[in-house]
Amino acid sequence: MAEKVCEGGLELAETPDKSDCIVISTCTVIETTERKMLKRISELAGLRKPIIVSGCMAEIQRDKVLSVAPQAIFLPIGRIERINEFLARLGMRGSDSPLPPSPSLRNVDIAIPIAQGCLGGCTYCITRLARGELRSRPVEDVREDVRRAVDRGYKEIRVCAQDTAAFGIDGGSSLPELVGVLAQLPGDFRIRVGMMNPSTLVRIKNDLHGAFAHERVFRFLHLPVQSGSDRVLALMRRGYTSGIFEDLVGEFRRAHPDITLSTDIIVGFPGEAENDFQMSYDLIRRIEPDSLNITRFSAREGTSASELDGKVEGRKVKKRSRILTKLRSEIGKRKNERIVGSSQPVLLTETVKKGSTVGRTMNYKPVVFREELPLGTFVEARITGAEDAYLWGELL
Ligand code: SF4
Repeated sequence: MAEKVCEGGLELAETPDKSDCIVISTCTVIETTERKMLKRISELAGLRKPIIVSGCMAEIQRDKVLSVAPQAIFLPIGRIERINEFLARLGMRGSDSPLPPSPSLRNVDIAIPIAQGCLGGCTYCITRLARGELRSRPVEDVREDVRRAVDRGYKEIRVCAQDTAAFGIDGGSSLPELVGVLAQLPGDFRIRVGMMNPSTLVRIKNDLHGAFAHERVFRFLHLPVQSGSDRVLALMRRGYTSGIFEDLVGEFRRAHPDITLSTDIIVGFPGEAENDFQMSYDLIRRIEPDSLNITRFSAREGTSASELDGKVEGRKVKKRSRILTKLRSEIGKRKNERIVGSSQPVLLTETVKKGSTVGRTMNYKPVVFREELPLGTFVEARITGAEDAYLWGELL
């Protein structure tokens, strides 16, 4: 949307109070996110400016949004490309020529959606209700978006969807085909492939090994398992077993030994007994993911999991989350320490704190440099230290 606004000759304001109109893209995946979103929308509503709300809350929780921001206008997800028409209706028309975003808002990474919706039917998922059936974009359209982004200087292209592995199933194409096409584009950039559901990855795994071998593709696999217990996976209706997940991880690691694996676990799913949790713990200890997102189960309105019996007590859920967090730190630190002393090419992508810069190795490990360096450049770095979630580096 930010790109479209600049293309339309409108200026992105640096802060909400300097703007003529506020645009907020929302998420409601778990209850805490929903609460944060409503708090933020309510604060922004206090500025008494028009507010355009997009994202999942604009699809399924309009009443909640209107209760904190009665002036909100909703921009459906399928129409975000037409943001400028919405702004024009509010009296905001841009100059005839596109404007570049101001340097302080300029990122070198950009998310390019390749599909909306998914083929899943996960019982806990509210995103499915908001995004609906899988609708993949044509390969040519995505290619054109990426070409434009690379021309504009973006270096990290994040190919994203609710389930990137499902891309193209509805239209006779596939994720490996898309990644192959994007990797052929001219320019100096890297592609990061987003989250994949194990059940859809199974179909395309062999072709995707080949696509991941391209030097422009980060060797990074985000494969949420959600539970190590097949009984709980069936209750979640995830469509695979923990064995299928482990086999996938093994195959990708054999094809790309240094691939970074990120996975997700939900703790406290209704009916999750102590031994189910133990299976999740054992799975994580066995596969040693490089990063692990731990989410406490949150009953979302309208989902069938919200009506399941066997609610797990809050204190047990917290305890399980703490146990996994500890395991995550131990694994992260141990794995990152193995890399200390090596030299790695790194793409500099972010300034998180003043006086430092964050970059990504070619297997997408974050490296922090204790100096300000030009974003978007490729450097050679020596890895000098390791924390559980990132590495320290120095320029060579
Ligand atoms: S694959 Fe499952 S968790 Fe992911 S968006 Fe679809 S229904 Fe939700």
